[in-house]
Amino acid sequence: MKQAPIIWTNVLLFLLTFLIAAIGVPWYALTIGFGWFEIVATIICLGYCGMSISAGYHRLWAHKTYDAHPIIQWIFAIGGAFALQNSALHWSADHRIHHRHVDNNDKDPYSAGKGFWYSHIGWMLRDYKGVEKPDYNNARDLQKNPIVMWQHRHYLVLAIITNFGIPLTLGLISGNIMGMLLLAGVLRLVLSHHFTFFINSLAHIWGKRPYTEQNSARDNGFLALLTYGEGYHNFHHIFETDYRNGVKWYQFDPTKWFIKTASWCGLTSNLRTVPEEKIEQAKAQMQLQRARENVKQRPNAEQLLQLLEQEYELLLQRMQDYYTLKKELLMQRKQKLVAHYQAVDFKQSYQEFREHLQQQRQHWQRLVTAFS
Ligand SMILES: [Zn+2]
Ligand SMILES: [Zn+2]
Repeated sequence: MKQAPIIWTNVLLFLLTFLIAAIGVPWYALTIGFGWFEIVATIICLGYCGMSISAGYHRLWAHKTYDAHPIIQWIFAIGGAFALQNSALHWSADHRIHHRHVDNNDKDPYSAGKGFWYSHIGWMLRDYKGVEKPDYNNARDLQKNPIVMWQHRHYLVLAIITNFGIPLTLGLISGNIMGMLLLAGVLRLVLSHHFTFFINSLAHIWGKRPYTEQNSARDNGFLALLTYGEGYHNFHHIFETDYRNGVKWYQFDPTKWFIKTASWCGLTSNLRTVPEEKIEQAKAQMQLQRARENVKQRPNAEQLLQLLEQEYELLLQRMQDYYTLKKELLMQRKQKLVAHYQAVDFKQSYQEFREHLQQQRQHWQRLVTAFS
């Protein structure tokens, strides 16, 4: 079978930046050395690129899990160009196809079914005609977003300005242009690229599947460390509308923390979450499925299976009872709060009206006394 044609721009870009990061950076570190300013600035740039992809491209634009103030969107649009992962429109359209046709080798643009190399970077190195190309029909909402469209139209210029301009400016500030170009320019770009690419490759191969086995996505705490929380990919593929990926409080998900914190400042809003009950049900269902498989080999399999089914049904019943009551309790609390505020309002009005009446009484008395 004929191979798809190579996309030389991508091959050269990935190869050259990788070689500089792997050879040039260590050589410079050993011969000349980097200062603290270069290292800290590079970490900040790396974080900026990563968060623009995870909180911006992924959770805001591709999945619409929350709304963001234009200021935040501008910051992400520029950070996304700095991360050099194509425009937000293109990235999101691709990513929506990935979710819709996950693991389908003919449609998923970075299908894990085609192996580590293909899903990690191979899919960008050749022009695979067979794979569904984004025509942006699945991103009509984003085509109405002026910030996304501005970034899409000026993507190349923005990518060049940020990738050269930011390290150069930092180099001028620190007085070490070469050091900055190597660290905040190239090493930052290579790390940022591969950390994100790990989500398409490793997060579909390595890790646990606590919520679903319908697709290859895995939860992986180590990958979450490198990707600002995106490593909880099994949860994400089943509940993609949730603004959280690490749903438990102890899971490392700085993207979730950022979105939540920004909501307190009014910079993000409408944070979408999946009901707790649904998440617990999905997990219990997976546990049941696994326990069923394990029990089959036991001598008293039938009895054990019956017990499992009984306990599972009871668990679902108890869950329903608990979550229904919890919902009611929350509703009551809300009503109570409303009632409390209404009472406060009422008291204030009562005071005001009493004062008005008192003033008018005095006024009236003065008036009638004058005419008596
Ligand atoms: Zn996603
Ligand atoms: Zn995925």
